[in-house]
Amino acid sequence: MDPNCLFCKIGAKQIPAKLVYEDDDVFAFEDINPQAPTHILICPKKHFVALHDAGAGDQALLGKLQLVAAKLATERNLLSGYRTVFNNGSGAGQSVFHLHLHLLGGRNFRWPPG
Ligand code: AMP
Ligand code: ZN
Repeated sequence: MDPNCLFCKIGAKQIPAKLVYEDDDVFAFEDINPQAPTHILICPKKHFVALHDAGAGDQALLGKLQLVAAKLATERNLLSGYRTVFNNGSGAGQSVFHLHLHLLGGRNFRWPPG
């Protein structure tokens, strides 16, 4: 845990959030500024700055983030169209530097993203 990290603090329940999923490795919560009817952030409990901060030993954990997203998308009837996104680095729009997978659904999406 990084004591200066917002999402580590949410994972440790030191800052409130609307938690929608948790297990030993992962937690997920509603985005405070949703960009779609469903907008959930899925985080590893382990602190990574971004995807390039992970290594080969983190392969299963990274896969788990996607599988949790698929489970939540299924539960919320989003299978006609949902998006999972990692923003890595400020140039890609990352603003919280604890790796998180966005799950967005409940509306139509354009391609390419802005
Ligand atoms: P990113 O820009 O990819 O780093 O995504 C960070 C996301 O975290 C944004 O969509 C924010 O709305 C969201 N966010 C920031 N602070 C909080 C918070 N306290 N609780 C829930 N979501 C947050
Ligand atoms: Zn963190």
